[in-house]
Amino acid sequence: MTPNELRSRFLAFFEEHDHRVVPSSPVVPQADPTLLFTNAGMNQFKDLLLGNETRDYTRAASVQKCVRAGGKHNDLDEVGKDGRHLTFFEMLGNWSFGDYYKRESIKWAWDFLLNELKLDKDRLYVTIYKDDDECFDIWTQEMDVAPERVLRLGDIEVGDEENFWSMGPTGPCGPCTEIHYDLHPEQGPLEFKEGYDDDRINEIWNLVFMEFNRDEDGTLNPLPMKSVDTGLGLDRTAMVLAERDNVFHTELFTPIFKTLFELLGDDADRDLEAFYKAANFSDYAVIADHVRTVTFAICDGAKFANDGRGYVLRRILRRAVRHGRNLGFGGPFLHKVAATVVEAYGEVYPELRATGQEAGELIRLEEERFFRNLDRGLELFEDAAARVESEGQKTLSGEEVFQLHATFGFPPDLTEIMAEERGMSIDWEGYESLWKEHQETSRGKDMYADAAGVGDWVTLEEGTADTFVGYDQLEATTTVR
Ligand code: ATP
Ligand code: MG
Ligand code: MG
Ligand code: MG
Repeated sequence: MTPNELRSRFLAFFEEHDHRVVPSSPVVPQADPTLLFTNAGMNQFKDLLLGNETRDYTRAASVQKCVRAGGKHNDLDEVGKDGRHLTFFEMLGNWSFGDYYKRESIKWAWDFLLNELKLDKDRLYVTIYKDDDECFDIWTQEMDVAPERVLRLGDIEVGDEENFWSMGPTGPCGPCTEIHYDLHPEQGPLEFKEGYDDDRINEIWNLVFMEFNRDEDGTLNPLPMKSVDTGLGLDRTAMVLAERDNVFHTELFTPIFKTLFELLGDDADRDLEAFYKAANFSDYAVIADHVRTVTFAICDGAKFANDGRGYVLRRILRRAVRHGRNLGFGGPFLHKVAATVVEAYGEVYPELRATGQEAGELIRLEEERFFRNLDRGLELFEDAAARVESEGQKTLSGEEVFQLHATFGFPPDLTEIMAEERGMSIDWEGYESLWKEHQETSRGKDMYADAAGVGDWVTLEEGTADTFVGYDQLEATTTVR
């Protein structure tokens, strides 16, 4: 089954069960200041789940474009390291708004996986929220799943949110049950218990039983009605169906890789099996992920900027460019790969076709600016790293990280990744204090206006999040535009 068939089978299945098929909302949230990017299928239904809105349907299904690169759900650092986290992915989902509850949602999910997708039951495992006995009984008695394949996880009282899903620090949340797939049964019998290897037992579907609205002080207030919110990762399910153990080894990424081969002057029909094992495969993987995120976000109206969402995108683009540089690109290339994304997804998401060309132009300008500084920045980094190594040290100074950021537009997290690759860490304290000083002296000025070739940096106001505080805080302190 191809990813395209998977999308349509999913929607058809739930349509047969009286669900209204609703199109994906944009990855740039339209009216929710608590979110940097759309991180789940339920975002567009938040008000329905909270009981603040009603529509002429109580069951819905969709395929949602998601970005997890900021805020509560941030997978940026996993990309290219494990085979299952992407910053852009699609989420297949079905919902009940005060309609059906645990029994039906579990029954349909199981039916879809076993009878539509024909997954092998012996490779499926289930987790549930620790004291959800009702859920345990449904799985073991009605779905006939062996009790040792059902694991109780999470304890919200002690802050362990495993199997208790929340959209963000506030908003709808509730206990969940998740379905996992064993990618490597050939590795022998497995004891499914806390601390199981989730590279092997890969989570594919989350069924959330929405019961609470979490307010600012963390209090869980019962919702007026009980709802269901599910999310089945399309990319991960495509991986399972293709009998792969890495999402990047699916046909979803082939057009992107082929474009990269062509642009690099390689054989476009390069043997993929050998390619997946190549030492520099992760450079390709990171680019492939990041170009999808940037393309979808810019097509949905986001702009590169020096704060908030636009800054996250700027960092993602710069990471992609720097991996491109590893592969030998000496100038803008990402906008050409973006065109492949538009082409590959234009049928499913026609909005890409409408804005793709303009988005490509924005991406080209942005990467051009960074390329201008990239070589000089990389030189500075190499010199600094070599010096640290020759002194037998393992820490890059705050001064160097600061210089790279202020002069060459290297976001500190990019420098951190490059340092990590050389087995080095960063003196964050040193960096932070230099940055603070810099902010104080330049307050009110156009901070980066004349930083060599960096381009259209905007004036930062006090309290915006240009200081690297990690993505979680970035979201909390940033005014989203
Ligand atoms: P994980 O534990 O693997 O990080 P999650 O528990 O954060 O996943 P959910 O929030 O439950 O994920 O999202 C529902 C489904 O969306 C997951 O079961 C998975 O199939 C898919 N998914 C989540 N994050 C990603 C990602 N970064 N890349 C690809 N698919 C994802
Ligand atoms: Mg996650
Ligand atoms: Mg999980
Ligand atoms: Mg989950």
